[in-house]
Amino acid sequence: MQVSEGAHETTRELERIRAEARAHLEWLRDAGVGEIEGGRAVSTSTATSTSTSTSTATATATATAASTAAVTNGEKGCGSPALLAVRTELGDCARCKLGPGRTKLVFGVGNPSAELMFVGEGPGADEDQQGEPFVGKAGQLLTKMIEAMGYRREEVYIANVVKCRPPGNRDPEPDEIAACEPFLKAQIAAVRPKVVVALGRFAVQTLLRDPTPITKQRGRWRDYEGVKLMPTFHPAYLLRNPPEKARAWQDLQLVMKELGKVPPVR
Ligand code: SF4
Repeated sequence: MQVSEGAHETTRELERIRAEARAHLEWLRDAGVGEIEGGRAVSTSTATSTSTSTSTATATATATAASTAAVTNGEKGCGSPALLAVRTELGDCARCKLGPGRTKLVFGVGNPSAELMFVGEGPGADEDQQGEPFVGKAGQLLTKMIEAMGYRREEVYIANVVKCRPPGNRDPEPDEIAACEPFLKAQIAAVRPKVVVALGRFAVQTLLRDPTPITKQRGRWRDYEGVKLMPTFHPAYLLRNPPEKARAWQDLQLVMKELGKVPPVR
């Protein structure tokens, strides 16, 4: 059976992660830490023996490997070693208060080296159930928008500012954004798109740290962490306000021009 270079890369990345975990645990053991509670190192002035700490380290390393394998096998949006490393770092995340209420963590989906990336606000009910961003009605509209631009959905990368569903679809709160945004930044750095399209008021204002209304920000190029960013309306807003689709299409045409895509005759 032939094994692709991508599979080799993934295997090498898994080996690297395991080696790092092993080295980290050995260092903790040597530093006198005998066990890990909830991800927090506990001092072992009370640890009783080297064998105890060694078995704890082994168990934790096994859990890390199991978690990594689960990510490799089942998670969406991890199609490169760099993205897999971000997902592995995220783990079974409980860094903010959205974690306990989720059904599935919604990491991202799409081409791991896409030239075009879309960023929304956070998962809704459908996304929470399926573990994939933009799969409900708004997602279906986003897919149409992507296809109208001359791409297939799987050719772009899609993610959200926060990866767990806010209860009742409320806006994510500042502490939740602060906990989760570093992972979005890492995803963008991993994918290295030419253009990010920020969807809706919340994503735009959060990414740009600019409270200007979306109606005034849309359609104007901005910079996010060295990547060109185009603000436009969220597909859910467009479903509620169909006449605004024309302005959103103007924004997307600017993106197409930037990426060398020819707008279809409409
Ligand atoms: S929203 Fe982000 S930071 Fe908060 S629990 Fe989910 S993955 Fe972790």
